[in-house]
Amino acid sequence: MASIFTKIIKGEIPCHKVAENDEFLAFLDINPNAWGHTLCIPKKEVDKIFDLDEGTYNGLMQFSRKVALAIEKVVPCNRVGIAVVGLEVPHAHVHLIPINSMSDMDFKNNTARLQEEFAALASELSKKV
Ligand code: AMP
Repeated sequence: MASIFTKIIKGEIPCHKVAENDEFLAFLDINPNAWGHTLCIPKKEVDKIFDLDEGTYNGLMQFSRKVALAIEKVVPCNRVGIAVVGLEVPHAHVHLIPINSMSDMDFKNNTARLQEEFAALASELSKKV
């Protein structure tokens, strides 16, 4: 069965898109640890990140770096943290999280925000990638 992220890639499920190219997609995490929390995914569906072929893995990291630099321009933060977990969604993804303290990396600390706020932030970020 297709992962929820493949459904996002196909447009079957909506997302707040930040950046996209032929191989990769970045969108806001629906349940952010910190405001600006963004996911970068390969369009190729592979569960575990280290099972990606080397080219896709390196491409995902380059893509993630571009998105992280955009996040730093838009979201006030000390820096952008990076995490790979994958326990919830079996489709390789990089979490980019604007952080000011270690607690911002805590996946149990989630902030609810309005859909309009997500849409406005995704639009602002997309102009900086
Ligand atoms: P994990 O697989 O443990 O790395 O976590 C998956 C992440 O995907 C979590 O941070 C979720 O909040 C996020 N997530 C799950 N479904 C969606 C969705 N439809 N749109 C955006 N983010 C999602």
